[in-house]
Amino acid sequence: MTVNFIFNSVFTTYMNKKDGTIDLVIIGSGLTGLSAAIAAYSKNPDLKVKLFGIPYNTITAKKGTIDTIPGIESVVGVDYIVQILGQIEKFNNEYISSFSSSEEQNDNLEMKGKRIEIEEEKISKIKKEEENFVLVTEEGETIRAKAVILAYDLPELKGAIKGEEEFESQGLSYCAVCDGALFRGKKVCIIGKDNFAARGALFLRKYCRKVTVICPSSTLDIDKRFMKKLEKSPNVKIKYGIDLSKVEVVGTQFVTGIKFVEDGEEKELSVNAVFIELKDKPDLSMLKELDIKINEEGFLVTNSKKETTIPGIFAAGVITGEEDYCAILMGEGYKAGINAVNYINKK
Ligand SMILES: Cc1cc2nc3c(=O)[nH]c(=O)nc-3n(C[C@H](O)[C@H](O)[C@H](O)COP(=O)(O)OP(=O)(O)OC[C@H]3O[C@@H](n4cnc5c(N)ncnc54)[C@H](O)[C@@H]3O)c2cc1C
Repeated sequence: MTVNFIFNSVFTTYMNKKDGTIDLVIIGSGLTGLSAAIAAYSKNPDLKVKLFGIPYNTITAKKGTIDTIPGIESVVGVDYIVQILGQIEKFNNEYISSFSSSEEQNDNLEMKGKRIEIEEEKISKIKKEEENFVLVTEEGETIRAKAVILAYDLPELKGAIKGEEEFESQGLSYCAVCDGALFRGKKVCIIGKDNFAARGALFLRKYCRKVTVICPSSTLDIDKRFMKKLEKSPNVKIKYGIDLSKVEVVGTQFVTGIKFVEDGEEKELSVNAVFIELKDKPDLSMLKELDIKINEEGFLVTNSKKETTIPGIFAAGVITGEEDYCAILMGEGYKAGINAVNYINKK
């Protein structure tokens, strides 16, 4: 049974390499996608896995320090990504050196090479083609895959605030953690809700003189730990229940302030920067040729194995409506990786 299984998986991989089909493509190389790749390697190192996305342009890489991963007291996000990429490189080297004798190397030339590869490109389309999937990158390159894991992030919600387009990159940013340090000692504003707004405010309070959070809901649905920290921050002020359709970013060449209506009264706050921390629904445009099920809120529907309604396509992380915590997303990605390999092995 084991010998058969090994033979089958080696044979399948050999055949796939011959016709250029990748075993598993993972879209997204953040914590979710990287965890899926590691899971796939651990389950069957003979399979070829390709990740798409930019590991250093992920939330983890940009977000500062993470202190809630079990067993890791505190780690700088980008260092954590570097560690994971190092681990993947170690697996790749371990695999290549497992072909010890030169005779064996010649016999398995097709099998040699990295098991996990990362392409810093975006996928724009996925189609079904007989048993496999055809993926098209934004550059127009075509890739065939036996199975696909969707593990990308939610896009920024753009266009909800007046003045956004005019002041983008002129004091208006969509990432408090990425650009906050540029406004050291200044007065800034975050427009957003829940953990995204809270995390941004907790970051900005360290650099900025005053941080005002403009929140559309009547409360911030955030971790109590964050709330306690925010309440203890004298330079953070939260304004609840603000109608975002009446908010306007104002300025000359750069942002100088923000207008909004509070308790029926028009107000203007002088700020040097505005950070919009609002997330949109998942962008599912790459899946438009597939009849994949989404729920009422616009998130991909998956079962407990992270299978979508299209056999061979798995989805994990925030695009399935999962809570946005590193440990959850890693577990979800890992589960998708294991189940995608089970699917490929069964084929
Ligand atoms: C400020 C802040 C602080 C946080 N602090 C904590 C914390 O302390 N503890 C905690 O547990 N969690 C925390 N989180 C949550 C958590 O760190 C992240 O949200 C999580 O790591 C996101 O992982 P991800 O894989 O879903 O997305 P990302 O890391 O954003 O990765 C998405 C990937 O998808 C790729 N991609 C997107 N579209 C495409 C496409 N079309 N084709 C190919 N690739 C694509 C991108 O290039 C990227 O590689 C925090 C989040 C924020 C914003």
